Amino acid sequence: MKSKFKPVFNFIFGPVPSRRLGVSLGVDLMPHKTCSLDCVYCECGKTTHLTTKRKEYTPFDQIRKELDIFLSSHPHLDSITFSGSGEPTLHLGIGEIIKYLKKDYPEYSISVLTNGTLFHSLEVRDAVAQADRIIASFDAASDTVFRTINRPHPSIDLQEMVEGLAALKKECSNQVWMEIFIVPGHNDDDHELKQIQGAMDIIKPHQIHINTLDRPGTEDWVQPITQEVLKRIQACMHNVSVVDHAKHAAFPDEFSGDLLDMVLSTVKRRPCTAEDISEITGADLNKINQHLDILLKNGEVVKKKMPRGTFFSRI
Ligand code: SF4
Repeated sequence: MKSKFKPVFNFIFGPVPSRRLGVSLGVDLMPHKTCSLDCVYCECGKTTHLTTKRKEYTPFDQIRKELDIFLSSHPHLDSITFSGSGEPTLHLGIGEIIKYLKKDYPEYSISVLTNGTLFHSLEVRDAVAQADRIIASFDAASDTVFRTINRPHPSIDLQEMVEGLAALKKECSNQVWMEIFIVPGHNDDDHELKQIQGAMDIIKPHQIHINTLDRPGTEDWVQPITQEVLKRIQACMHNVSVVDHAKHAAFPDEFSGDLLDMVLSTVKRRPCTAEDISEITGADLNKINQHLDILLKNGEVVKKKMPRGTFFSRI
C-alpha cells in the first residue's frame, strides 16, 4: 500500500535508544525486505527479495543528503548504525558511505548490524573495515538448524560463512561482536550450542551476545527463552552476555521534531508498543496513542497483541 504520509527522511530513522549502542541513529540502506536470509524471528517481516546480489539498492546521493541534513546540527549520538529493512552489506555503496561519514563526521562512532553471510568476499570485508563496530548474527552451526531458523539463499554455505567471519575478525582492527538469537526447540540443545561455541572459537569475536524474542517475529511459533534455557546456554558456552531489552530514552527531553513522522519511521523498522515509543521520544503516552490511532485509521500500521503489550508494525 502506498503511504499517505510523506516522510521527512526515507533512509535514516530514530535516533532510537539501544542498551548496547546508546543513542543510535539508524541508516537503512535496503528496500523492505531485501535480505540474504529469511529468519523466522525477523522483526521486519518475511523476506520478499531473497538475494545475495550486491548493488546500489538505494541512491547513495540521497542517503548522503539526508545524513548531511540530520548531522549538520551535530546532535548527540552514541552510534550511527547501519540496520533496518534488510542486509546492509548487500548495498554496494556501504563502504563509500562509511568512508564519507568517517571523513566528514569523524566524531561519530559507526556500527554495522549484519547477518554475516557475505564476509567470505574480501570486497565486503573491506567495505565495513572502517566501521568501529560490526555486530554479526550467527544462530546455527549445523546446516539443518541454519536452514530452519535462517532460511538462507540457496547459494550461502555455512562453512564459508564461518571462514568469512573469522577472516573479518583477523583483518579488522575494530570491534567484532557476534549475536546469537535463540529459537527454543531448534538451537538451544547442548549439541547445537556446543557446535555454535566451536564456531565462536574459530571466529574469536570480541563479545558474544545472546538475544531472544522481545517483539513480534515473522513466525508466530517463535518463543522467548526461559530461565532454564538461559542456564543451559551459560553452561555450554563461554563469556556470553544476554541482550538487555530494558528501555531508556533516546532524547533527554521530549522529542521536538515531527512526532507523527518519528512514530511512523520507528514502527516501519521494528514493531513497538505505544509505551516503547513514549520512552524513546519522551512524549506523553496519550499523544503517542493519538498518533498511532491516526496511522491505524489510515491503514499505515497494524497492531498485534503479545505478552509484553500491543505492538504496532508496518502493514
Ligand atoms: S533478522 Fe536480519 S538477517 Fe534475518 S531476515 Fe531479518 S533482516 Fe535479514
